[in-house]
Amino acid sequence: MELIPAKLPLLVKWLFPKYIWNIQTEEKVIYLTFDDGPTPEITQWTLDILEQFKAKATFFCTGDNVQKHPEIFQGIVEKEHVIGNHTYSHPHGWKTSTETYLENVKQAQDIINFQLQNATLSKQQSAVNNLFRPPYGQVTKKQGRKLIGLGYNIIMWTVLAIDWSEKTNKEQSLKNVIKNAKQGSIVVFHDSEKASENMQYALPKVLEYFSEKGYQFKSLTPTMFRI
Ligand SMILES: [Zn+2]
Repeated sequence: MELIPAKLPLLVKWLFPKYIWNIQTEEKVIYLTFDDGPTPEITQWTLDILEQFKAKATFFCTGDNVQKHPEIFQGIVEKEHVIGNHTYSHPHGWKTSTETYLENVKQAQDIINFQLQNATLSKQQSAVNNLFRPPYGQVTKKQGRKLIGLGYNIIMWTVLAIDWSEKTNKEQSLKNVIKNAKQGSIVVFHDSEKASENMQYALPKVLEYFSEKGYQFKSLTPTMFRI
């Protein structure tokens, strides 16, 4: 885990050009994303702080957590953030057969779609954009190809807060984002128990720092992708 760099090496982006690593934009916008929720208390805290800064984000939820915490999921949709698929049970793509992996993604999607029926139609439409983020950033070429074939946009990242790691302290998580994020960056945080201490320290400071510099925070929508 400690070998993962906070800023994405250009080579990786070049090797996987069909995945989305950043957004081409003329505006001063940063795209915050939150993986692994919804999680009791932490996700609600995240929604509240985003609202204070009029920030919109993208939440890559696991089907398992959506099923366990449907009311928190509903809160994300109510606040008009975008929902992405992060599989049902967070498998390692490289260690999982394509068939099993795709089944896991579908299982999550069915749960997300089922829960979305409780939201108003306009909120449903703004919430789902066929976004998929592979857990651990691990997806085989075949899995990736199949998912794209199913209409998913595979969202990777530009900057990792590395907030989940025991080896990263909260100041380092903050620094990872402040130092590396710029216009069009896709930034990864986690609304999970494991990451909460680092994330809850870094996120408000990131929002403040970039807001003062004139940046906005927006959700990911498919019109942005040049595919
Ligand atoms: Zn994850």
